[in-house]
Amino acid sequence: MKVISRKAEQKNMRLPDLIGLLFPRRCPVCQEVVEDRGERVCSICRTRLPYIRGPVCLKCGKPLLLEEQEYCQDCVRKRRWTDRGRAPFLYDKVMRKSIAGYKYGGRREYAAFYAEEILRRCAGEMKGWKGEVFIPIPLHPSRRRKRGFNQAELLAKELSKRSGIPTDARLLSRIKKTHVQKELNDQERLTNLKNAFSVRKGKVPYKNIILVDDIYTTGSTMDTAAKVLKEHGAQKVYFVCICVGNGN
Ligand SMILES: [Zn+2]
Ligand SMILES: [Zn+2]
Repeated sequence: MKVISRKAEQKNMRLPDLIGLLFPRRCPVCQEVVEDRGERVCSICRTRLPYIRGPVCLKCGKPLLLEEQEYCQDCVRKRRWTDRGRAPFLYDKVMRKSIAGYKYGGRREYAAFYAEEILRRCAGEMKGWKGEVFIPIPLHPSRRRKRGFNQAELLAKELSKRSGIPTDARLLSRIKKTHVQKELNDQERLTNLKNAFSVRKGKVPYKNIILVDDIYTTGSTMDTAAKVLKEHGAQKVYFVCICVGNGN
C-alpha cells in the first residue's frame, strides 16, 4: 500500500482515483468493469435499463397500460396495507440478472447504484410521504447468515446516506422461516407469511415509515410487514424498492 501511495503521489493521483484503480466498479447490468470514470453503469448498458415511464398505479407504482386507469388490477382487488410505493425499474431480464449478481454474486456495491436511481426517479413522490425512517424487510437470521448480508438493509443504508432519512434495521424482525415465495399463489403466499414478522418491544415509535426491499411482485411481503407495523402504532407505511413487476 505504501509503495502504491508513493507512486500515486508522484503521479498526482487523488484518493478516489486510487480506490477506483484498486477496486474497479462493476457495471450492474453486464457485470464488467466500468471504463468511464465516475460512472456506475457502462454507457451502452445504461440504455438497456428498464426505467418505468408513463402512467403508474397510484398505490404500488407498477406501470399501467392506460392513462385513465388509477390503480392496477391487483390494487383494485386486494386490500393493501401499504399506502403507496415506488420503484425506478421494471423487473425484467436485465434487472433479474443484476439483482441476482447483487444478492448471490457478492456485488454489494450495486446497492449504491440502486439507491441513487431510487432517489433520482422517486424523490419527488417520496417528498410528500414525510417518511421518518427507512425500515428494510428483514431476513430470517438463518437466511441472513447463509447470504452474509441482508440486501434490503444494505440498500436502506445507502438510501439513508443520500437522503438524511435514517434506517432502523432493528425494529422489525423475521421470526418465521418462510418458504421461497416465487412458486406460491396469492393465498399460499399469505399463509406462508402469516406471523412472519414481529415488532421489537411491541411498539412502533414512528408515524410515517418507508419500507425497503429489492423487488415488489404481488406485494404480499410488503403488505404483511405493513400490517404488523400498523397494528403496533404506525400510521402510514410506504415503500420503495429497486424493481416492480408488471401491472395492468
Ligand atoms: Zn455494462
Ligand atoms: Zn397497484
